[in-house]
Amino acid sequence: MSIKLFTNIAKLYTMAGGVRKKDRLDDASIIEHAWMIVADGRVQEIGTGKAPFVDGEIIDCNNQIVLPGFIDAHTHLVYGGDRSNEYRKKMAGVAYLDILQAGGGIHATVEATRKATFEELYNKAKATLDYMLTCGVTTLEAKSGYGLDRDTEIKQLEVVKELQKDTPITLISSFLPAHARPKNYPDAHAFFTYQKNEVLPYVMEHHLAEYMDCFLETGVFNAEEAKEILQIGKDAGLKIKIHVDEIASIGGVDVACELGAVSVEHCMVTTEADSDKLAAHDIMAVLLPATSFNLGSAYARAKMMLKHGVTLAVATDYNPGSCPCSDFLWMLRIASRGYKLTPNEVLSMATINAAKAVDRDHEIGSLEVGKQADFIVMNVASFDEVIANMQKNPITQVYKNGRKVV
Ligand SMILES: [Zn+2]
Repeated sequence: MSIKLFTNIAKLYTMAGGVRKKDRLDDASIIEHAWMIVADGRVQEIGTGKAPFVDGEIIDCNNQIVLPGFIDAHTHLVYGGDRSNEYRKKMAGVAYLDILQAGGGIHATVEATRKATFEELYNKAKATLDYMLTCGVTTLEAKSGYGLDRDTEIKQLEVVKELQKDTPITLISSFLPAHARPKNYPDAHAFFTYQKNEVLPYVMEHHLAEYMDCFLETGVFNAEEAKEILQIGKDAGLKIKIHVDEIASIGGVDVACELGAVSVEHCMVTTEADSDKLAAHDIMAVLLPATSFNLGSAYARAKMMLKHGVTLAVATDYNPGSCPCSDFLWMLRIASRGYKLTPNEVLSMATINAAKAVDRDHEIGSLEVGKQADFIVMNVASFDEVIANMQKNPITQVYKNGRKVV
């Protein structure tokens, strides 16, 4: 058995006690002057004061703080090309959906991703993951959706599967065939039938995805259409995530409730009535603040949703268009400012609550006996300091399953 004792922890942000709602979002369950014993990759014991004797390795944390590894619950990790050429158009006031309709946006990335080789996609995504690990990300969800056709969707998902062999970050795959309307399939039903018959069987047979996702938005897929493709995924055994309410509120939350989705994501324009529904159905809302920042659009009404009892998580939405940002710390700084939330509140959203958004809150997201020892060591006096300052990465070490990976 491998045993490690981590001593001299100034503050251990355990996030113990389950997912956070309402006022509890600010509770980081901090233990001061702490120590933690990790056995075979899992937390075995936590305490404060003088550490007990252990027959194992002793690691002095030098009076730094320790917190659970971050969980990025929404990314579009694997893609080809670059969309910085759209930046000028955005600054000139061209709307996101207008860029999309003119063949840019997701369509441009689809073209580039189809052209890219497996190796090119792999190398690009691997570099992003390496960077995200230094930002403290130890679990990450990755969506397909830049292929739309069989070969490219499968290529994207297989890149994620291959990356899992070479990164300590746990990768969770979502199949997102309905990310945009492909030009060769103006009819949604025909497109979904193609996905159901030609792509999904391979995805399931090779265990390439855990979730089915859909971009439910004005000008993309409406609620009826989203329900059709998501039901196909659900029938095949996939769990459900849905992009909703990014630009317009057009019934996405109702679809999520009807299908028993794990999460709805974006929620920039989610209404009070829909917030009540999310709370009643215990569906997570994954908010993406860096997208609001980058698009110059409204931030989700996090405080309103909290008041209505919605469980909130936060993620980067890393993608080449609406959010080319893989800096998790910077995203958290934006979240706190954009949503007017405290550092501990955004920390809850990025750890224990984000764990629930990927259906793993029993395994990760907090440092409690029996859970995976995924954690970050930071050279600051408190997490407040990380958020209050807009610069610097104070992470000195990252551990995954008790093993030092940064
Ligand atoms: Zn997205």
